[in-house]
Amino acid sequence: MDQSRILLWYRNDQRLHDHSPLDQALLAQPLYLIPLYCFDPRHFSKTAFGFPKTGAFRAQFLLESVADLRQGWRSRNSDLLIRMGKPEEIIPELVKALSLTQVYFYQEPMAEEKAIERSLERALKPLGVEIKTFWGHTLYHPNNLPFKVNELPELFTSFRKEVEKSSRVQPALPAPSQVPPLPVVEVGDLPKLSELNLETPELDDRAVLKFQGGESAAIARLKQYFWQQDHLKVYKETRNGMKGADYSSKFSPWLSLGCLSPRYIYEQVKTYEKERVCNDSTYWLIFELLWRDYFRFIAAKHGDRLFHAPGLQGISIPWKQDRQKFECWCLGKTGFPLVDANMRELAKTGFMSNRGRQNVASFLTKNLGIDWRMGAEWFESLLIDYDVCSNWGNWNYTAGVGNDARGFRFFNIIKQSKDYDPQGEYIKHWLPELARIPAPKVHEPWKLLPIEQERFAVKIGTTYPAPIVDLFQSAQAQEQVYNRAIGGVKGRSARGR
Ligand SMILES: Cc1cc2nc3c(=O)[nH]c(=O)nc-3n(C[C@H](O)[C@H](O)[C@H](O)COP(=O)(O)OP(=O)(O)OC[C@H]3O[C@@H](n4cnc5c(N)ncnc54)[C@H](O)[C@@H]3O)c2cc1C
Repeated sequence: MDQSRILLWYRNDQRLHDHSPLDQALLAQPLYLIPLYCFDPRHFSKTAFGFPKTGAFRAQFLLESVADLRQGWRSRNSDLLIRMGKPEEIIPELVKALSLTQVYFYQEPMAEEKAIERSLERALKPLGVEIKTFWGHTLYHPNNLPFKVNELPELFTSFRKEVEKSSRVQPALPAPSQVPPLPVVEVGDLPKLSELNLETPELDDRAVLKFQGGESAAIARLKQYFWQQDHLKVYKETRNGMKGADYSSKFSPWLSLGCLSPRYIYEQVKTYEKERVCNDSTYWLIFELLWRDYFRFIAAKHGDRLFHAPGLQGISIPWKQDRQKFECWCLGKTGFPLVDANMRELAKTGFMSNRGRQNVASFLTKNLGIDWRMGAEWFESLLIDYDVCSNWGNWNYTAGVGNDARGFRFFNIIKQSKDYDPQGEYIKHWLPELARIPAPKVHEPWKLLPIEQERFAVKIGTTYPAPIVDLFQSAQAQEQVYNRAIGGVKGRSARGR
């Protein structure tokens, strides 16, 4: 029998465990199985507002992940092919050179990636190659949902309740112990950051974690967080933290690049519940993974609307594109310590807590009234864990144009600061210029009297900025803009959370 020769195209699925295309390829018992990763120049171009599409933190993490993936294949007496260029050009060349018969890959839900898939299909068609695509990334497979993706509920709670009632998570697939050999082929070198026109980012020792890309580091992090340090049992109480490695799982960078499978996490949670404890915290980690699923399914349902200024709800808010204020936000120079600390953490490390993300996104959109897409692109550029669906879905949500039916809601930055950083430890960690201000006063440094400023070694407007807006007046003004856009009630007073 003429055996198949399969190419496995890796994208954001950089692992050997729980990998459906790999599993299916192995079942076909191919003569050759050729795994490939392409560094696509389009991923290293500029966003619409002119930021690097992939900043140095994520690029570094990606290089580490690809290196680890290659190591995984090498330890099974094969290798990962690495190429620089467009997959729709590279894959057909390999198909011709190696007489390949099939190409397997995980499909992506968004337009840019789908366009590449279509170009690839067009290029492969004359070569008579079979393409097999798979759905991945989510905890639940669309086939196991109680509704079609295009009929997905617009509210998370409805989605969650239905799914929890009627759907089940499919078992995670084990990593194979053996794989077929490679034919004689040039395997290609891992590029250096400089070849991607990026510089090696400096590691800031204030970072929550030294994120190391790859499946091995992902599984090690899970072992540590669940099994060695038992943090899972208190996750629900700690998850709103901002400082340190263990207030939350920090799985997101590995999930985004597919180094870690959500179904594998789910199974580990279930084992933990049997062997250690089953409580609100163990449930809550799965609850958060459901948010992640939800944003991916919503993105698949709505497509490009996710990227448009009126968002999923189609609300035409006249957003500002005030570059000066936007820059203050990016650089962490707004005069609001909670916002500034978070934005400086992002710029220095490529990570920010969920609590931080919600606050800075609310501040940009509800206080500064700035186009939420500028914020989303800034995050896209810097975040190690950037995921197109989670990022743009959350930005839609926080800007008030996404899946949130509750109208205009903004975060009261001062209250949030006092509630979630009562001792100002997080603020002082990232804003050393405020280090000597006592905790109760550090949340609103603009209120310090001149004599206090002298005592606490800070000069508002000089060593630390004065606030660039009035928190409540700006929210009130933006609420009116929002109400006019939805044609609703005018002049309600601003309510902050
Ligand atoms: C404006 C904004 C932008 C965001 N951009 C991204 C992004 O680009 N990539 C990304 O992975 N997450 C994004 N998030 C969601 C969330 O902030 C991060 O997933 C979380 O902070 C990662 O830390 P963790 O892994 O320790 O999370 P944990 O609290 O340990 O949660 C476990 C996992 O659940 C998922 N999760 C948790 N909260 C959310 C959420 N709100 N939406 C979707 N998934 C969630 C993540 O995969 C996370 O790793 C964004 C949130 C906001 C408000």
